[in-house]
Amino acid sequence: MHNHFFAAVEARATPAAPFLQAPQSSAAAAWTYADMLARSAQMANALVALGVAPGDRVAAQIEKSPEGLMLYLGAIRAGAVFLPLNTAYTTGELDYFLRDAEPTVFVCDPARHKAIAALAKDCGVAAAETLGPDGRGSLYDLAQTQPDTVAEVPRAPDDLAAILYTSGTTGRSKGAMLTHANLVSNAEALVEIWRFTAADRLLHALPVYHTHGLFVATNVVLFSGASMLFLPKFDAGEIISEMPGATTMMGVPTFYTRLLDRPDFTTETARTIRLFTSGSAPLLAETHRDWFARTGHAILERYGMTETNMSTSNPYKGDRRAGTVGFPLPGVALRVVDPETGVSVAAGAIGMLEVKGPNVFKGYWRNPEKTAAEFRPDGFFITGDLCQVDPDGYLHIVGRGKDLIITGGFNVYPKELELEIDAISGVLESAVIGLPHKDFGEGVAAVVVLQPGAGLDETAVQGALHGRLAKFKLPKRVFFLSELPRNAMGKVQKNALRDQYKATFAG
Ligand code: AMP
Repeated sequence: MHNHFFAAVEARATPAAPFLQAPQSSAAAAWTYADMLARSAQMANALVALGVAPGDRVAAQIEKSPEGLMLYLGAIRAGAVFLPLNTAYTTGELDYFLRDAEPTVFVCDPARHKAIAALAKDCGVAAAETLGPDGRGSLYDLAQTQPDTVAEVPRAPDDLAAILYTSGTTGRSKGAMLTHANLVSNAEALVEIWRFTAADRLLHALPVYHTHGLFVATNVVLFSGASMLFLPKFDAGEIISEMPGATTMMGVPTFYTRLLDRPDFTTETARTIRLFTSGSAPLLAETHRDWFARTGHAILERYGMTETNMSTSNPYKGDRRAGTVGFPLPGVALRVVDPETGVSVAAGAIGMLEVKGPNVFKGYWRNPEKTAAEFRPDGFFITGDLCQVDPDGYLHIVGRGKDLIITGGFNVYPKELELEIDAISGVLESAVIGLPHKDFGEGVAAVVVLQPGAGLDETAVQGALHGRLAKFKLPKRVFFLSELPRNAMGKVQKNALRDQYKATFAG
């Protein structure tokens, strides 16, 4: 038996070919695939020296760096389970993750080592090492002393490669267990449908503690022999200067809106690009249109989640439709069901999306109850996303099930109202939420961001919606903000909005 994931990576690696360029890090000015193999082997050996055994967790809360990426690959080569943590997590949250995951090694930023070493010890973590934004730290020092080849630890397709904690907007964050086969099958499917080759050069500006930057972007590069420009974070000015020469960029919707805000981002900037993809949060149809007008490129929107990797994509060749996430990936089965009964809904009706395939995770870490609750007996995973399939087979995500508003016994799908509000002249975007209401259970409210210079007020928005949708769907209140609260992946934080306006209909 071999190491299922890494054997696939190694089989595709041309040693002399370029792998990664990191303009801001002198250490990794330009790494070839041979460098990737050598440095990830050193990381694997360093982890083994720290006591990591097959199946152990290696947790990391570090800034993005090429060396940090080698930690991901090194952990897998050592047969361990890589566990990246969002850099925004506080020490209190870390306490939960370390106790829940029981990693053997925890890697943190050198600046936080003092504060965290004691916590790690308290949580029973054997080694607390450091890796900084510049790729330097105690783990780097140790890796430097290690041989640059390693006998990979054999891992079967069903063994764990990583645990990614979900964002946990409802209750405790859960660890999604991702297997070697999950990662391999998804990388292979994406390389095929997005036509990645060794000639590609990817602009990588996504965070690498999340499925999008860590798996979608990085694994597609590794599985096609492509190269990437590895940027520490998204910076519109830097993207504009680095885009010429790149062939593709994967982004969250905010990448696209921020670039469109820059008058110096032009058709010429995107001249060498063959593909722009977007995901992790819904891309506004308006952004899709504006991007096409500016660059001549139709952004390819795809859909996935931590638990399922990628499940659907708009076509590479063919109509990439704004506001849709396209068709199932090869080997992925989808169905749309009534959330209560689990019975398939009529064609075209809104329902809960369920997914089955080699992309779907193994379950929640040490949480068999939650795992059992979110899988159907026939193996379909209940995504929690409400959706609709249009007559041409394109999937539309209507929103999270938990964002569904039930007002006076009627269902209101926020997306339906958001689309109407966004179409009002002067509106940039909106978020529709349900707030506790003494008579109706929930009352519909809209939070609106206006285009610069627009002079709409609450009455104007309500007036524009009048007659467009059934009365129970219309917002009883409209609030205005200069921007919607979003997390790093561009997701609108509806919890924060519900919290901010929770007293609206009280009393
Ligand atoms: P995460 O686990 O952080 O990747 O979040 C997954 C969730 O993001 C999904 O369940 C969807 O609600 C949302 N999501 C991801 N991609 C899209 C998309 N293209 N359009 C709409 N929602 C999306």
